[in-house]
Amino acid sequence: MAACITSRYQHFMTGKLQGDSAAATPMMAQYFALKAQAPDCLLFYRMGDFFELFFDDAKAASACLDIALTARGEHGGNAVPMCGVPAHSAEIYLARLIKAGHRVAIAEQTETPAEAKKRGSKSLVARGIVRVVTAGTLTEETLLDARAANWLVALAEVGGQIGLAAADISTGRFEISVIAPHALDAELARLSAAEIVAPEGWDAAPANAWSAPAASFNSVHAEARLKKLFGVATLDGFGGFSRAELAAAGGLLAYLERAGQGTLPFLQLPHRRATSDHMLIDAATRESLELTLTAGGARKGSLLDAIDRTVTGAGARLLAGDISAPLSEKPAIEARLDLVTLFVEDGGLRERLRTRLRQIPDISRALGRLVAGRGGPRDLALLRDGLSEGATLRDLLAALPQPPQLLIDLLPRLAGHGALIELLMRALVPAPPLDASDGGYIAEGYDAALDDLRNAGSDGRRAIALLEARYRERTGIASLKIRHNNVLGYHVEVSARHADPLMAADSGFTHRQTLAGVVRFNAADLHEQAMRVTQAGAHAIAAEAAHLEELTRAALDRTAQIAATADALARLDVAAAVAERAIEGGWCRPAIQDHACFEIEGGRHPVVEAAVAAAGQPFVANDLKLDPDRRLWLVTGPNMGGKSTFLRQNALIAVLAQAGSYVPASSARIGLVDRLFSRVGASDNLARGRSTFMVEMVETAAILAQATERSFVILDEVGRGTSTYDGLAIAWAVVEAVHDINRCRCLFATHYHELTRLAERLDALSLHHVRAREWKGDLVLLHEVTEGPADRSYGLAVAKLAGLPPAVVSRASAVLKKLEAGRAATGGLAAGLDDLPLFAAAATVEALKPDPLREAIERTQPDALSPREALDLLYELKRIAAEPNEAFG
Ligand code: ADP
Repeated sequence: MAACITSRYQHFMTGKLQGDSAAATPMMAQYFALKAQAPDCLLFYRMGDFFELFFDDAKAASACLDIALTARGEHGGNAVPMCGVPAHSAEIYLARLIKAGHRVAIAEQTETPAEAKKRGSKSLVARGIVRVVTAGTLTEETLLDARAANWLVALAEVGGQIGLAAADISTGRFEISVIAPHALDAELARLSAAEIVAPEGWDAAPANAWSAPAASFNSVHAEARLKKLFGVATLDGFGGFSRAELAAAGGLLAYLERAGQGTLPFLQLPHRRATSDHMLIDAATRESLELTLTAGGARKGSLLDAIDRTVTGAGARLLAGDISAPLSEKPAIEARLDLVTLFVEDGGLRERLRTRLRQIPDISRALGRLVAGRGGPRDLALLRDGLSEGATLRDLLAALPQPPQLLIDLLPRLAGHGALIELLMRALVPAPPLDASDGGYIAEGYDAALDDLRNAGSDGRRAIALLEARYRERTGIASLKIRHNNVLGYHVEVSARHADPLMAADSGFTHRQTLAGVVRFNAADLHEQAMRVTQAGAHAIAAEAAHLEELTRAALDRTAQIAATADALARLDVAAAVAERAIEGGWCRPAIQDHACFEIEGGRHPVVEAAVAAAGQPFVANDLKLDPDRRLWLVTGPNMGGKSTFLRQNALIAVLAQAGSYVPASSARIGLVDRLFSRVGASDNLARGRSTFMVEMVETAAILAQATERSFVILDEVGRGTSTYDGLAIAWAVVEAVHDINRCRCLFATHYHELTRLAERLDALSLHHVRAREWKGDLVLLHEVTEGPADRSYGLAVAKLAGLPPAVVSRASAVLKKLEAGRAATGGLAAGLDDLPLFAAAATVEALKPDPLREAIERTQPDALSPREALDLLYELKRIAAEPNEAFG
């Protein structure tokens, strides 16, 4: 290895470098100039077959990649640290560096050594940064997860509004939206961005955002750029973007442009998303519900994993998107559900569709690579095959009587590529190579001139084979061979002991090379044939390359239409997959309601159900019935009794229903949920070393501030992260606030038995518990949710079940008796709380008393005021302030 490294670096570290001045090495000067263009990146510096890294880059990369770090030469009195990766396998290393959070600038040789030589004998091969690779700007298949989108997000704030622009350049998806500051977290969590870019110096930027020059977030330039990019005179057709949205889009485009070093990747027409389009789910809720990833970051064990039956990568990505952003409008949800119902009811159709979809390649990503200029013949073949499958599917589906509306909308998008498919079918061989450089992908018969060149080449190769026979005959050397290598081209090779006669001046052979054991020669007629072969080969490759360019252009002319086909196929895949899952699990179609109800019969948790089934246990289905008058369930019962499972299964059912899926229940009526919240008491998360009581409280505060009458909230053991008294007090107050102020639908699981007293006072609260029984001294958890409070906590029985030593259990039982005796005497933990009837309500009423001064300020729109009006307003405010106010009186 060391020897190899030495030879790789010898150019870089010539004697000149080891002298007094580093700048004396032209190559080093070139390196520094390139590095200065990308100071924030690791620089991959191409040298022959390797990408080399130097100085600190080498240290960082060798540590991350676990490859040898060496030191050669000298710079500024020190040896220069370096390491390198082979260019042909660079993607694997890139993937690891990017995953570890690095950014990489790729400096390629932009001319061949021969071209450099032409400029002057000592000229250095020119190099330039061709691409900056970051987590959000990947298109390589090997670096991307086929079943997940890869979002790059840019944010900008203008006039108090936050604009968000997001692009998945691997598929060209491009979204722009305005986000209220409180919803930013939820939106970023929905996108689960691979990379976030924000203007330098913006205080409110998310902690993990990359700072880009603030000047690139310029809304005026962005508007012009977008118009040019999409060839439109106005952006109104997209819904008219606000300044904040344009600024974010500007930042995004500038960042992408830099990553592509001037070339923009594939972007579809921007889709303007309104945050009200979908259910708001913040990051903490996503994490606690494990929608697309588990708390440990794995896909396995998540809701998505439990329901995903898609058969294409694009379908899987779309399903993940659907689950991440459940819809908030009934017609759109019903449209998706209608399509699912079609596939639920017609099993034969579903199976035929899925069988066909399985054959369909990932058109969007192939298209993404072609647009980014990194596509090859294989990608065109993927388009050819995918698009023609799309047309076949259209025919299959067009024959259906009474298709649902969504299908009617999708059908035209599946076809219409006839001419392109026909062209690609004629032009390409059935299975072209990934890489164009060796040719061989244009089909025979597509271009007569190319066929001639290929024939000339094979004639030449045949002639060479004949020559071998002839030479053997002429020299009488049976082991004589004609061989080919990159240095000598075609040549005659004989073993050393047969070489003498060929060395003779009149032998007709010219000596080229003597190696241990073999001697190599050239011959005039061989040379002539060889020239024919190489020339024909080179011309054929050039001709193929020209065709490839033409064909790529033909495909790119239809970029938008192809992307639409890919999207339509993905939607069909999702609908059929959801239907498949529904049939498999005996799920039902949810009835979406306008009023705030939540009625589930026979509800199940898809992930826990699978887990208990794997252990050979039955899952106990449970009902839920919430409506505006009975909107809060307090669920008590022993640990391990199934409280969390019950809470979460209902939250998941809401997500699935609004994502347009069937749900794991025997019947479901769900009033639209605008925001979903899920919080788990601190100690559950402590094991992960992340959550603390403080975080629990911050998150609970967020719910109390944001939940509306249309929201659905699950609170699991809130308050348990602190001492018993504090915890009970907090839980008590939170239940009251949720009941009286937020008035949302809520499930609250707690082991504070004392909270059940709240039922006496809070009308919309009802008591429920998970059933358990002690049988012959052992605890039996029935996992069944029934009405009423739990009769006892069974804490000791659970401890025994968990294997606490019998001596400890019996000691605990003695202590418990004593405590219970004390409780009986004093009235228990919550004693006296009954004397506090307006505990929360009293405080809130005060806070909610009208305050004219505040109201006047809230009515004010500063942007709309002239200086004169502003002054008048100030006087008016002073006047109101001077008035006696009963609210404070
Ligand atoms: P709790 O929140 O009351 O402590 P969990 O909801 O965490 O209880 O449930 C504990 C375990 O009980 C689960 O991991 C699962 O194995 C089992 N379980 C929960 N609910 C059910 C159910 N409805 N049917 C069958 N098993 C269940």
